[in-house]
Amino acid sequence: MRSNSESFVLRGARLVLPHASIDADLLVEEGRIGRIFERAPEDSQSIGEALNLNGLTLFPGFIDVHIHGAMGADVMEASADELHTVARFLARNGVTAWLPTLVPAPDEDYRRAVLAVEELMCGQDQTTTPAAARSLGVHYEGPFVNEGQCGALRTKYFRVYDKRSALDFLPIVELEDAKRMITLAPEVDGGIELIRELRTRGFVVSIGHTRADVETLDQAFDAGARHLTHFMNAMSPLHHRAPGVVGWGLTHDEVTCDVIADGVHLDPLMLEIVLRCKTAKRTLLISDAVAPAGLGDGEYGVWNETITVKDGRTSNERGSIAGSVITMRDAVRMIRNLKVSDQEIARMASFNPAKLLGVETECGTIEQGKRADLVALDEEGNARLTVIGGRIAFNDLQK
Ligand SMILES: [Zn+2]
Repeated sequence: MRSNSESFVLRGARLVLPHASIDADLLVEEGRIGRIFERAPEDSQSIGEALNLNGLTLFPGFIDVHIHGAMGADVMEASADELHTVARFLARNGVTAWLPTLVPAPDEDYRRAVLAVEELMCGQDQTTTPAAARSLGVHYEGPFVNEGQCGALRTKYFRVYDKRSALDFLPIVELEDAKRMITLAPEVDGGIELIRELRTRGFVVSIGHTRADVETLDQAFDAGARHLTHFMNAMSPLHHRAPGVVGWGLTHDEVTCDVIADGVHLDPLMLEIVLRCKTAKRTLLISDAVAPAGLGDGEYGVWNETITVKDGRTSNERGSIAGSVITMRDAVRMIRNLKVSDQEIARMASFNPAKLLGVETECGTIEQGKRADLVALDEEGNARLTVIGGRIAFNDLQK
Protein backbone atom coordinates (compact mmCIF):
# COMPACT_ATOMS: atom_id res chain seq x y z
CA MET A 1 0.00 0.00 0.00
CA ARG A 2 1.36 3.35 -0.95
CA SER A 3 1.94 5.75 1.90
CA ASN A 4 2.23 8.89 -0.08
CA SER A 5 0.79 9.36 -3.42
CA GLU A 6 0.18 11.83 -6.16
CA SER A 7 -3.43 10.80 -6.61
CA PHE A 8 -5.86 8.14 -5.48
CA VAL A 9 -9.61 7.64 -5.23
CA LEU A 10 -11.52 6.96 -2.01
CA ARG A 11 -14.41 4.90 -3.25
CA GLY A 12 -17.81 4.12 -1.79
CA ALA A 13 -17.78 6.04 1.50
CA ARG A 14 -20.55 8.20 2.84
CA LEU A 15 -19.01 11.68 2.69
CA VAL A 16 -19.85 14.16 5.41
CA LEU A 17 -20.02 17.44 3.50
CA PRO A 18 -20.82 20.73 5.27
CA HIS A 19 -24.56 20.65 4.56
CA ALA A 20 -25.34 17.04 3.67
CA SER A 21 -23.94 13.55 3.60
CA ILE A 22 -23.72 11.85 0.22
CA ASP A 23 -22.54 8.51 -1.09
CA ALA A 24 -19.78 9.45 -3.44
CA ASP A 25 -16.18 8.95 -4.47
CA LEU A 26 -13.44 11.40 -3.74
CA LEU A 27 -10.26 12.03 -5.66
CA VAL A 28 -7.19 12.98 -3.65
CA GLU A 29 -4.76 14.84 -5.85
CA GLU A 30 -1.52 16.61 -4.99
CA GLY A 31 -2.39 16.71 -1.32
CA ARG A 32 -5.83 18.18 -1.89
CA ILE A 33 -9.40 17.13 -2.45
CA GLY A 34 -9.36 17.11 -6.24
CA ARG A 35 -12.91 16.11 -7.05
CA ILE A 36 -16.04 14.64 -5.54
CA PHE A 37 -17.91 12.40 -7.99
CA GLU A 38 -21.19 10.67 -7.63
CA ARG A 39 -19.34 7.61 -8.89
CA ALA A 40 -15.85 7.60 -10.30
CA PRO A 41 -15.48 5.68 -13.55
CA GLU A 42 -14.87 1.96 -12.85
CA ASP A 43 -11.84 2.20 -15.03
CA SER A 44 -10.26 4.97 -13.01
CA GLN A 45 -6.66 3.86 -13.36
CA SER A 46 -6.09 7.02 -15.29
CA ILE A 47 -6.80 9.09 -12.21
CA GLY A 48 -5.15 6.86 -9.66
CA GLU A 49 -5.40 3.86 -7.40
CA ALA A 50 -8.72 3.26 -5.62
CA LEU A 51 -9.28 2.42 -1.96
CA ASN A 52 -12.54 0.77 -1.05
CA LEU A 53 -14.32 2.55 1.80
CA ASN A 54 -17.68 0.79 1.51
CA GLY A 55 -19.64 1.01 4.74
CA LEU A 56 -17.43 3.77 6.17
CA THR A 57 -18.22 7.41 6.84
CA LEU A 58 -15.65 9.95 5.71
CA PHE A 59 -15.24 13.00 7.94
CA PRO A 60 -12.92 15.95 7.63
CA GLY A 61 -9.90 15.17 9.82
CA PHE A 62 -10.30 16.13 13.46
CA ILE A 63 -8.44 19.13 14.83
CA ASP A 64 -7.51 19.11 18.53
CA VAL A 65 -6.66 22.58 19.86
CA HIS A 66 -5.98 21.44 23.43
CA ILE A 67 -3.73 18.44 24.01
CA HIS A 68 -0.74 18.00 26.32
CA GLY A 69 0.62 14.72 25.03
CA ALA A 70 0.02 10.99 24.58
CA MET A 71 1.86 7.67 24.51
CA GLY A 72 3.94 8.71 27.51
CA ALA A 73 5.22 11.91 25.91
CA ASP A 74 4.42 15.28 27.47
CA VAL A 75 4.65 18.40 25.33
CA MET A 76 6.59 20.16 28.12
CA GLU A 77 9.39 17.60 27.99
CA ALA A 78 9.20 15.85 24.64
CA SER A 79 11.81 16.02 21.91
CA ALA A 80 10.70 16.65 18.33
CA ASP A 81 10.90 12.90 17.70
CA GLU A 82 8.71 12.16 20.70
CA LEU A 83 6.23 14.78 19.53
CA HIS A 84 6.16 12.99 16.20
CA THR A 85 5.26 9.79 18.06
CA VAL A 86 2.33 11.68 19.61
CA ALA A 87 1.36 12.95 16.17
CA ARG A 88 1.43 9.40 14.76
CA PHE A 89 -0.79 8.21 17.61
CA LEU A 90 -3.19 11.06 16.89
CA ALA A 91 -3.31 10.12 13.22
CA ARG A 92 -4.35 6.59 14.20
CA ASN A 93 -7.24 8.25 16.00
CA GLY A 94 -8.42 10.42 13.14
CA VAL A 95 -6.70 13.64 14.23
CA THR A 96 -5.09 15.45 11.31
CA ALA A 97 -4.00 18.64 13.08
CA TRP A 98 -3.24 19.59 16.67
CA LEU A 99 -2.07 22.40 18.86
CA PRO A 100 0.52 21.15 21.38
CA THR A 101 -0.56 22.67 24.69
CA LEU A 102 1.85 24.04 27.29
CA VAL A 103 1.25 24.34 31.03
CA PRO A 104 2.70 26.91 33.47
CA ALA A 105 6.41 26.17 33.92
CA PRO A 106 9.79 27.85 34.35
CA ASP A 107 10.80 30.08 31.41
CA GLU A 108 13.47 27.62 30.36
CA ASP A 109 10.90 24.82 30.03
CA TYR A 110 8.69 27.01 27.84
CA ARG A 111 11.64 27.82 25.60
CA ARG A 112 12.68 24.20 25.27
CA ALA A 113 9.13 23.02 24.56
CA VAL A 114 8.49 25.64 21.88
CA LEU A 115 11.80 24.85 20.18
CA ALA A 116 10.85 21.16 20.04
CA VAL A 117 7.47 22.04 18.49
CA GLU A 118 9.24 24.26 15.98
CA GLU A 119 11.61 21.45 15.05
CA LEU A 120 8.65 19.09 14.66
CA MET A 121 6.87 21.57 12.41
CA CYS A 122 9.93 22.11 10.22
CA GLY A 123 9.98 18.42 9.34
CA GLN A 124 6.36 17.43 9.36
CA ASP A 125 5.49 18.17 5.74
CA GLN A 126 8.57 16.49 4.28
CA THR A 127 7.74 13.32 2.42
CA THR A 128 10.63 11.57 4.16
CA THR A 129 8.82 12.04 7.49
CA PRO A 130 6.02 9.50 8.02
CA ALA A 131 2.68 11.30 7.73
CA ALA A 132 1.25 12.31 11.10
CA ALA A 133 -1.14 14.85 12.60
CA ARG A 134 0.17 18.28 11.71
CA SER A 135 1.13 20.64 14.51
CA LEU A 136 -0.31 24.08 13.86
CA GLY A 137 1.59 26.01 16.56
CA VAL A 138 1.23 26.16 20.34
CA HIS A 139 -1.47 26.73 22.92
CA TYR A 140 -0.47 28.23 26.25
CA GLU A 141 -2.83 27.08 28.99
CA GLY A 142 -1.86 29.72 31.55
CA PRO A 143 0.24 31.12 33.11
CA PHE A 144 -2.13 34.11 33.58
CA VAL A 145 -4.86 32.14 35.33
CA ASN A 146 -6.70 32.09 38.64
CA GLU A 147 -5.18 30.05 41.48
CA GLY A 148 -8.67 29.36 42.75
CA GLN A 149 -9.44 27.42 39.54
CA CYS A 150 -6.06 25.86 38.93
CA GLY A 151 -7.26 22.33 38.16
CA ALA A 152 -4.09 20.29 37.64
CA LEU A 153 -1.89 23.30 36.76
CA ARG A 154 1.05 24.17 39.05
CA THR A 155 0.18 27.45 40.78
CA LYS A 156 3.77 28.38 41.60
CA TYR A 157 4.32 29.27 37.95
CA PHE A 158 1.18 31.40 37.62
CA ARG A 159 1.70 35.06 36.76
CA VAL A 160 -0.08 38.38 36.72
CA TYR A 161 0.45 40.85 33.93
CA ASP A 162 2.60 43.89 34.44
CA LYS A 163 2.68 45.88 31.25
CA ARG A 164 6.32 46.72 31.81
CA SER A 165 7.17 43.11 31.33
CA ALA A 166 7.59 42.36 27.67
CA LEU A 167 6.00 38.90 27.52
CA ASP A 168 9.36 37.73 26.22
CA PHE A 169 9.19 34.66 28.38
CA LEU A 170 6.35 33.42 26.16
CA PRO A 171 8.23 32.19 23.11
CA ILE A 172 6.31 31.53 19.92
CA VAL A 173 6.96 29.20 17.05
CA GLU A 174 8.96 31.31 14.61
CA LEU A 175 7.47 29.90 11.44
CA GLU A 176 5.21 31.52 8.95
CA ASP A 177 1.61 30.45 9.53
CA ALA A 178 2.32 29.04 13.02
CA LYS A 179 -0.72 29.66 15.20
CA ARG A 180 -0.71 30.80 18.80
CA MET A 181 -3.47 30.47 21.32
CA ILE A 182 -3.62 31.26 25.03
CA THR A 183 -6.04 30.42 27.81
CA LEU A 184 -6.16 33.09 30.49
CA ALA A 185 -8.28 34.45 33.31
CA PRO A 186 -9.24 38.06 32.55
CA GLU A 187 -9.52 38.89 36.25
CA VAL A 188 -5.77 38.52 36.95
CA ASP A 189 -4.04 41.84 37.59
CA GLY A 190 -3.64 43.56 34.24
CA GLY A 191 -5.78 40.93 32.55
CA ILE A 192 -7.77 43.15 30.20
CA GLU A 193 -4.66 45.02 29.09
CA LEU A 194 -2.99 41.65 28.59
CA ILE A 195 -5.77 40.48 26.28
CA ARG A 196 -5.34 43.58 24.13
CA GLU A 197 -1.59 43.08 23.97
CA LEU A 198 -1.87 39.40 23.08
CA ARG A 199 -4.45 40.12 20.39
CA THR A 200 -2.05 42.59 18.75
CA ARG A 201 0.56 39.82 18.87
CA GLY A 202 -1.76 37.52 16.95
CA PHE A 203 -2.88 35.25 19.78
CA VAL A 204 -6.28 33.59 19.82
CA VAL A 205 -7.37 34.49 23.36
CA SER A 206 -9.56 32.06 25.25
CA ILE A 207 -11.02 32.51 28.72
CA GLY A 208 -10.45 29.70 31.20
CA HIS A 209 -9.26 28.68 34.67
CA THR A 210 -11.25 31.68 35.81
CA ARG A 211 -13.67 33.15 38.32
CA ALA A 212 -14.30 36.36 36.42
CA ASP A 213 -17.56 38.19 37.02
CA VAL A 214 -19.83 39.25 34.19
CA GLU A 215 -18.52 42.81 34.08
CA THR A 216 -14.93 41.59 33.68
CA LEU A 217 -16.03 39.08 31.05
CA ASP A 218 -17.71 41.87 29.08
CA GLN A 219 -14.47 43.84 29.21
CA ALA A 220 -12.53 40.76 28.12
CA PHE A 221 -14.89 40.37 25.18
CA ASP A 222 -14.41 43.99 24.19
CA ALA A 223 -10.65 43.49 24.39
CA GLY A 224 -10.87 40.57 21.94
CA ALA A 225 -11.48 37.35 23.88
CA ARG A 226 -14.08 35.28 22.02
CA HIS A 227 -13.67 31.73 23.26
CA LEU A 228 -13.98 29.66 26.45
CA THR A 229 -11.58 26.83 27.36
CA HIS A 230 -12.99 23.49 28.56
CA PHE A 231 -16.28 25.16 29.20
CA MET A 232 -17.71 24.47 32.68
CA ASN A 233 -14.45 22.89 33.91
CA ALA A 234 -12.07 25.03 35.97
CA MET A 235 -14.44 27.99 36.12
CA SER A 236 -16.91 29.27 38.68
CA PRO A 237 -20.15 27.33 38.26
CA LEU A 238 -23.62 28.60 37.42
CA HIS A 239 -25.43 30.01 40.45
CA HIS A 240 -28.89 31.57 40.32
CA ARG A 241 -27.68 34.80 41.90
CA ALA A 242 -24.20 34.73 40.36
CA PRO A 243 -24.34 33.49 36.75
CA GLY A 244 -20.56 33.91 36.44
CA VAL A 245 -18.56 32.52 33.55
CA VAL A 246 -20.94 29.69 32.78
CA GLY A 247 -24.05 31.90 32.69
CA TRP A 248 -22.21 34.47 30.61
CA GLY A 249 -20.88 31.86 28.21
CA LEU A 250 -24.22 30.13 27.73
CA THR A 251 -25.96 33.37 26.78
CA HIS A 252 -23.37 35.07 24.55
CA ASP A 253 -23.83 33.89 20.99
CA GLU A 254 -20.69 35.66 19.79
CA VAL A 255 -18.59 33.49 22.09
CA THR A 256 -17.55 29.95 21.19
CA CYS A 257 -16.52 27.28 23.65
CA ASP A 258 -14.79 23.93 23.76
CA VAL A 259 -15.71 20.90 25.82
CA ILE A 260 -13.99 17.73 26.97
CA ALA A 261 -16.56 15.11 25.99
CA ASP A 262 -15.05 12.18 27.86
CA GLY A 263 -17.99 11.37 30.14
CA VAL A 264 -15.84 12.39 33.13
CA HIS A 265 -15.27 16.14 32.88
CA LEU A 266 -18.90 16.89 32.06
CA ASP A 267 -22.03 15.02 32.99
CA PRO A 268 -23.85 14.11 29.76
CA LEU A 269 -26.78 16.28 30.86
CA MET A 270 -24.48 19.31 31.19
CA LEU A 271 -23.13 18.54 27.75
CA GLU A 272 -26.69 18.59 26.49
CA ILE A 273 -27.26 21.99 28.11
CA VAL A 274 -24.13 23.31 26.38
CA LEU A 275 -25.32 21.97 23.04
CA ARG A 276 -28.80 23.42 23.47
CA CYS A 277 -27.50 26.88 24.34
CA LYS A 278 -24.36 27.10 22.24
CA THR A 279 -25.41 24.67 19.46
CA ALA A 280 -22.92 22.79 17.31
CA LYS A 281 -22.13 26.09 15.58
CA ARG A 282 -20.36 27.45 18.63
CA THR A 283 -19.01 24.32 20.31
CA LEU A 284 -15.68 22.60 19.71
CA LEU A 285 -14.54 19.23 20.91
CA ILE A 286 -11.11 18.98 22.52
CA SER A 287 -9.34 16.07 24.19
CA ASP A 288 -7.26 17.91 26.85
CA ALA A 289 -5.34 14.62 26.81
CA VAL A 290 -2.25 14.18 28.97
CA ALA A 291 0.82 12.02 28.39
CA PRO A 292 -0.68 8.71 29.62
CA ALA A 293 -3.32 8.81 26.85
CA GLY A 294 -3.01 5.65 24.79
CA LEU A 295 -1.23 3.68 27.54
CA GLY A 296 -4.17 2.39 29.62
CA ASP A 297 -4.66 2.38 33.39
CA GLY A 298 -1.68 2.88 35.69
CA GLU A 299 0.39 5.45 37.55
CA TYR A 300 2.37 8.00 35.59
CA GLY A 301 4.61 10.97 36.30
CA VAL A 302 3.13 14.12 34.76
CA TRP A 303 4.15 17.71 35.61
CA ASN A 304 6.22 16.50 38.59
CA GLU A 305 3.27 14.73 40.12
CA THR A 306 1.97 11.20 40.07
CA ILE A 307 -1.18 10.90 38.02
CA THR A 308 -3.32 7.83 38.45
CA VAL A 309 -5.39 6.62 35.51
CA LYS A 310 -8.19 4.29 36.42
CA ASP A 311 -11.06 3.31 34.14
CA GLY A 312 -10.22 6.19 31.84
CA ARG A 313 -10.31 8.80 34.61
CA THR A 314 -7.23 10.75 35.70
CA SER A 315 -6.52 12.11 39.18
CA ASN A 316 -3.48 13.79 40.65
CA GLU A 317 -2.14 13.78 44.23
CA ARG A 318 -4.41 16.70 45.13
CA GLY A 319 -7.45 14.76 44.01
CA SER A 320 -8.08 16.96 40.95
CA ILE A 321 -8.95 15.54 37.57
CA ALA A 322 -5.71 15.97 35.65
CA GLY A 323 -6.78 16.14 32.02
CA SER A 324 -8.20 13.29 30.03
CA VAL A 325 -6.86 10.17 28.34
CA ILE A 326 -9.21 10.33 25.37
CA THR A 327 -8.64 11.32 21.78
CA MET A 328 -10.93 13.34 19.55
CA ARG A 329 -12.22 10.05 18.18
CA ASP A 330 -13.54 9.10 21.64
CA ALA A 331 -15.18 12.51 21.99
CA VAL A 332 -16.78 12.08 18.58
CA ARG A 333 -18.02 8.63 19.54
CA MET A 334 -19.62 10.02 22.68
CA ILE A 335 -21.23 12.93 20.84
CA ARG A 336 -22.56 10.52 18.21
CA ASN A 337 -24.52 8.80 20.99
CA LEU A 338 -26.32 12.08 21.70
CA LYS A 339 -28.10 11.85 18.36
CA VAL A 340 -26.15 14.71 16.89
CA SER A 341 -25.97 14.76 13.09
CA ASP A 342 -22.76 13.96 11.27
CA GLN A 343 -22.73 17.54 9.95
CA GLU A 344 -22.81 18.83 13.51
CA ILE A 345 -20.05 16.44 14.57
CA ALA A 346 -17.86 17.54 11.67
CA ARG A 347 -18.53 21.10 12.65
CA MET A 348 -17.50 20.55 16.28
CA ALA A 349 -14.49 18.35 15.62
CA SER A 350 -13.11 19.93 12.46
CA PHE A 351 -14.58 23.14 11.11
CA ASN A 352 -14.99 25.07 14.36
CA PRO A 353 -11.43 24.35 15.54
CA ALA A 354 -10.15 25.33 12.09
CA LYS A 355 -12.13 28.56 12.24
CA LEU A 356 -10.93 29.37 15.75
CA LEU A 357 -7.35 29.19 14.49
CA GLY A 358 -8.13 30.96 11.21
CA VAL A 359 -7.31 28.02 8.94
CA GLU A 360 -10.85 27.21 7.81
CA THR A 361 -10.22 28.15 4.18
CA GLU A 362 -7.47 25.52 4.13
CA CYS A 363 -8.99 22.62 6.07
CA GLY A 364 -11.87 21.64 8.36
CA THR A 365 -14.44 20.56 5.75
CA ILE A 366 -14.64 18.15 2.85
CA GLU A 367 -14.73 20.50 -0.13
CA GLN A 368 -12.99 20.51 -3.45
CA GLY A 369 -9.65 22.28 -3.30
CA LYS A 370 -9.13 21.95 0.43
CA ARG A 371 -6.30 19.97 1.98
CA ALA A 372 -6.99 16.25 1.88
CA ASP A 373 -7.19 15.88 5.67
CA LEU A 374 -9.69 13.07 6.10
CA VAL A 375 -10.71 10.26 8.42
CA ALA A 376 -12.92 7.26 7.61
CA LEU A 377 -14.84 5.93 10.61
CA ASP A 378 -16.67 2.62 10.87
CA GLU A 379 -20.01 2.21 12.62
CA GLU A 380 -18.34 1.63 15.98
CA GLY A 381 -16.48 4.91 15.63
CA ASN A 382 -13.06 3.36 14.94
CA ALA A 383 -10.75 5.19 12.57
CA ARG A 384 -10.00 2.93 9.61
CA LEU A 385 -8.17 5.32 7.33
CA THR A 386 -6.57 8.69 8.00
CA VAL A 387 -5.28 10.87 5.18
CA ILE A 388 -3.21 13.95 6.03
CA GLY A 389 -2.28 16.42 3.31
CA GLY A 390 -3.02 13.72 0.75
CA ARG A 391 -0.72 11.19 2.43
CA ILE A 392 -2.03 8.04 4.04
CA ALA A 393 -1.08 8.34 7.70
CA PHE A 394 -3.04 5.34 8.96
CA ASN A 395 -4.63 2.43 7.14
CA ASP A 396 -6.66 -0.24 8.84
CA LEU A 397 -8.91 -1.09 5.92
CA GLN A 398 -7.92 -4.76 5.74
CA LYS A 399 -9.40 -5.66 9.12
ZN1 LIG B 1 -5.27 21.31 29.58
